[in-house]
Order: sequence, then C-alpha cells, then structure tokens
Amino acid sequence: GFAAKTNAPRRRDISFEDIGGQASAVKELKEALEFIKNEIAMQRLGIRPIKGILMTGPPGTGKTLMARAAANYTDSVFVSASGSDFVEMYAGVGAQRVRKIFQTARETAGKQKKKSAIIFVDEIEVLAAKRGQNSSHMEYDQTLNALLVEMDGLKVDDEVRLLVMAATNRVDMMDPALLRPGRFDRQVKVELPDKTGRLEILMLHTKNKPLADDVNLSLVARETFGFSGAHLESLANEAAILAMREDLKEIHYRHFHEAVDKVIMGEKLDRRPNP
Ligand code: ATP
Repeated sequence: GFAAKTNAPRRRDISFEDIGGQASAVKELKEALEFIKNEIAMQRLGIRPIKGILMTGPPGTGKTLMARAAANYTDSVFVSASGSDFVEMYAGVGAQRVRKIFQTARETAGKQKKKSAIIFVDEIEVLAAKRGQNSSHMEYDQTLNALLVEMDGLKVDDEVRLLVMAATNRVDMMDPALLRPGRFDRQVKVELPDKTGRLEILMLHTKNKPLADDVNLSLVARETFGFSGAHLESLANEAAILAMREDLKEIHYRHFHEAVDKVIMGEKLDRRPNP
C-alpha cells in the first residue's frame, strides 16, 4: 500500500550540522530557504515565492539529509515519497497519489500547528522523465501534470506554505517543463565530497566511536577518493565491526584501511545489472 511518510520513523531531527563536506550546497539551500523564513519581507517586496528546489547529484551524497535539515531549519512538517511510489499500472492512480501527498502535507501541518511543509520527492526523474520517453507515457503524463498543477496552484498567502524539494541523479532525464520559473526554479548541486569534505564526514560518523591513537582520519580521507557520504558512513561502521571481531574496545587505523576494500567490494556487488 501507499502511505506518504510524515516525520516517520520518528528519528532524531537532522540539522545542517549533521551534513559534512557540502558547504556550498548547504549555503545555496539556506539562501533559498530564507524565502520561507522571511515570508513577510518577501511579500512586502513582491518577490515570487519559491515553490520547488531540485537537488541534483550522485547517490548517497546527502540530498535526503538536506531535505530533512531544511524542514527542521524552517520549522516545517516533512513529508517524503519516492518517484517510484507514483508509478502504477492503472491510469490516474499516480496522479491521485500526487494530490494525496499535497493534501497530507497540508493536513499534517494543520494538526501540528506549523505554518509550512516540505514535500520531499526522491528519484523525481521516475515520475518526471521527459514526455514520450516511457512506454506507458499516458500514465506518466497524467502524474507529471498532477504535480505541475499542484505546484502552479501554490500561493504565497496559502494557509500552509508548501515547498517541494526533489532529488535526482539524472537531471538530464527530467522533463524541461519542470525546470520552468515558478516550478523547480532553484537547483542545488550536491557533489561527491572532496578530501576535506570526506574528512568532515568521517569525523561526523566517528563522533560516537572510540578511536585508537593510531587513527589518522586525514589519511583515511585521502584513501577514499570517490566515496560518497553513504560510503563513508558504511566505512566507519565496517571498521567498528572489524574491531569488534578482534574483541577490541577501540577501532584502529588498520580496521579503517581494511574496511575501505570492503566498501569498494560491496559497491561492486551493488553494481550488478538488474536481472
Ligand atoms: P540517494 O540519491 O541514494 O537517495 P542521498 O543523496 O539522498 O542518496 P542520503 O540518503 O542523504 O543520500 O544519505 C544516506 C546516508 O549517508 C545518510 O543517512 C548519512 O548517514 C550518509 N551521508 C550521506 N551524505 C552525507 C553527508 N554529506 N554528511 C554526512 N553523512 C552523509
């Protein structure tokens, strides 16, 4: 069954401090969010509200984290769904689900007495691929149209201010209709972290882990070229598991070193083509 996830599972709220190595993306996003935080000034100046922010970039780089942090930062309700949730065999079901998620966002905000809600749609390219690229394009068109209608209908003086944040790693596949002004007219590029960024992320993910004196995270950052935030999170976890297997109370440098290979191997397995 389909249910829009509202603030669930009730994890700890994510804030921008939990995101490493994405300083410029976070800065851009915060700038866009000022429009929500500063609605009155915006209205006075007659500035068109931002309705959609598109986050682009490789998997596991923190796009979902950024959407959750954005909700927290603007004191908004957070509702999330994935593009594939809207893909259905039956005509009209996808469009209905789009309308439903907007409705859920408004209702949840009302119940929680919040003035704004952020709707996060991961893998937006699934529902918003260029028209005519899918075999069952009629259905996709209806779903995409429903999203465009909902977004076009958002007003600055709506009782609950809605903002749609969408994420994709295939911006090239997106229907250009979505990128027009008044829709996803802000794009935030989220890139793979560089060495400094990797160090920041490693520090975040080892904050609550006992590290031996020989652990040099800068060295680990240097050895993990091409790793995403998700890879680094899994690296820290794998290193801890290796230490545990040796009955040690602290994680040593060699565990990180060994875990690098494990994560790379795991990635290779994940890359098997779908049957
Ligand atoms: P996808 O496109 O696959 O949905 P994503 O870009 O939305 O990926 P997230 O879901 O935000 O990635 O990241 C997955 C996990 O990886 C996070 O829960 C976190 O543990 C870790 N992670 C990813 N990026 C970062 C980052 N920049 N800083 C800290 N942790 C990160």
